[in-house]
Amino acid sequence: MDVGNPELTRDDEITTIKRRPPKRVNKAKERKKSLNYGEEYITNRGKTVAARSLGISCNQNTCKIRCKDKVSQDQRLVIPKVHWGLGQSRMRWDKIAKTVNVIAPKFWRTGTFRQKETSRVYTFTVNDEEVTVCKKFYLHILSIAETLPC
Ligand SMILES: [Zn+2]
Repeated sequence: MDVGNPELTRDDEITTIKRRPPKRVNKAKERKKSLNYGEEYITNRGKTVAARSLGISCNQNTCKIRCKDKVSQDQRLVIPKVHWGLGQSRMRWDKIAKTVNVIAPKFWRTGTFRQKETSRVYTFTVNDEEVTVCKKFYLHILSIAETLPC
């Protein structure tokens, strides 16, 4: 008696059950990916959301650190991709903690108030080298201006 190939039949059934409408899922996935990477994307209502850029970058002419000379256009795209590509926010904060070095606070007097100044050094890794940039540039590249507590 020929029973065919029962295993193949079962596999076929499983495949059919598991199949989902692929297009919708992919679109949402793409959007989320773009959102995470800070790239331009189009919402499901057809609205174009500009690439992630929340902070204002430093002024190339007045910045003493000359960030824009240190970090190439390519790197400016790669750095946030790597950063947002970390996915989990805890990992992103770990990364920020490693790239922002806090320098011992200095004290000085302003009128009757004693204020504490905490200096921070912001760094990016460019071609395996640590490059110091200014705060404005750092926040602008990573687009975290509104969340970094400093
Ligand atoms: Zn700068």
